[in-house]
Amino acid sequence: MQYDYDDQNIFAKILRGEIPNTTVFENDHALAFEDIQPQAPVHVLVIPKGAYVSLDHFARDASAEEQVAFFAAVAAVCDKAGVEHGFRAIANTRTHGVQEVPHFHMHIIGGAQLGRMLPAD
Ligand code: AMP
Repeated sequence: MQYDYDDQNIFAKILRGEIPNTTVFENDHALAFEDIQPQAPVHVLVIPKGAYVSLDHFARDASAEEQVAFFAAVAAVCDKAGVEHGFRAIANTRTHGVQEVPHFHMHIIGGAQLGRMLPAD
């Protein structure tokens, strides 16, 4: 599998400070911010600061330090966001997963009762 990173994607621009975001949490290797089109009362995106296109790319090539920092950010978001009753974590990936932004991101969605599964389009 070849992973080609497009540094013009919108999350790369957010990381460079070219586009504003509403930051929820940040550490050395990860950033969490509000989704611009929330699908539930809580909808936060957690992204690594490194150039990874997808979950499988990140899992394969990110350093242990980056992976720990990413999941520390997920934990911090869960602490802050009001998801004590549960949430859904989603990492849409490539075409079949309907990934729109080609920079790995994990959606943390909750704050209300969700449906059992995501509906197909
Ligand atoms: P995905 O289909 O998993 O790639 O989802 C991309 C997500 O990024 C969508 O939920 C969008 O609403 C969200 N999004 C796109 N642009 C921005 C932005 N500038 N700030 C915050 N979220 C964004």
